[in-house]
Amino acid sequence: MTESVDKSHDVAHLALASLKELGLASNPRNYEVWYTHIDGRNPALSRDIQKCLGRIGEITQADVDALYSQHIVRVDLAHDVLEVVSRFEHEVIELSELIEASGESAHGRGIELQELSLKLHESTQEYPSVSALLESVLAITKSVRQENQKLERRLAESSDEVAALRRNVEHIQQEAMTDPLTGVRNRKSFDTMIVNLIENAKKTNEPLALVVADIDHFKKFNDQWGHQTGDHVLRLVAEVMSANLKGADLLARYGGEEFVMLLPGTSIEHAAMLADRIRGVVQSRRLKKRRTNEDLGVITVSMGVAKYEPGDTPETLVERADQRLYAAKNNGRNQVVSEPCPDDPVRTAAQRH
Ligand code: GH3
Ligand code: MG
Ligand code: MG
Repeated sequence: MTESVDKSHDVAHLALASLKELGLASNPRNYEVWYTHIDGRNPALSRDIQKCLGRIGEITQADVDALYSQHIVRVDLAHDVLEVVSRFEHEVIELSELIEASGESAHGRGIELQELSLKLHESTQEYPSVSALLESVLAITKSVRQENQKLERRLAESSDEVAALRRNVEHIQQEAMTDPLTGVRNRKSFDTMIVNLIENAKKTNEPLALVVADIDHFKKFNDQWGHQTGDHVLRLVAEVMSANLKGADLLARYGGEEFVMLLPGTSIEHAAMLADRIRGVVQSRRLKKRRTNEDLGVITVSMGVAKYEPGDTPETLVERADQRLYAAKNNGRNQVVSEPCPDDPVRTAAQRH
């Protein structure tokens, strides 16, 4: 173990122990505050913690939340904590194995000595000092074993706590990538994924298609039936899209009433066919108001499809799909456009020949 890993292990351990002692939950937020405090890298935070503790000798969850917002909040929190947790977890496992190994050997040695002691017992009757010496060696071995067991138990507890912490952090990360209304990925997650998928398309030469979809006249629908009913429609559209995707396909809510689908390994022709199938399913749903069963008519979506071209950045790819979406809107909505549109650079180049 390197010195810095050793240190981070110690700090992590102390942080968890201290949280426990103060009766605070070992959740990622509290852990982040305490880790930073004990690590000593944020003196202002440590000063405020001392102040809180000095005042009434205890600290409440509300105090920790306030300290967190004041001293710590960072966008990449979940990622950082996950890194620390996974390092700590690794250390705990390694240390457990080490202890187990030494425990075994201590145990083995204990038995050896016990046997030896029995054998010698009779022959050393007349030498009580040798016998006493053996007894004390045995006592020491026993206490080493007990210590080991205690340590093992403590490590097992730490392991459990770290595992719970990791689940917590993963949950936070999952939440940070999800659109709360529809349950599909959010814009932030899409922005990350498109970079990865473009990189992958570059490396593998596999096609990559992008579909941008926008609900038609949704403002009117909201104005007529209310925002809540509009929210149900957004969920419905997300469900229809999701039900028609598979494998590595990726669906995200890009914003408002706009969705995006990234389809790795899919040609633009297949992407356009899939988009049109989804368009058809959405249009075929007769919408009803839940409570009153009132007929809300139908809604439609327009979509633009583009494929990754060498040299594309996420922005240029999204831009081309967007241009085609606008073409679909201008052509009368409720349709999919994947052909090059007038100011599409691909088409412009082709027209010159
Ligand atoms: P177009 O066919 O040109 O796309 O017209 P549109 O009315 O759909 O487009 P516009 O951009 O004018 O309006 C989008 C509307 O989407 C505005 C807002 O009422 C609605 N909207 C955006 N986000 C939400 C949401 O989270 N819930 C609900 N219910 N409505 C939303
Ligand atoms: Mg829109
Ligand atoms: Mg719209």
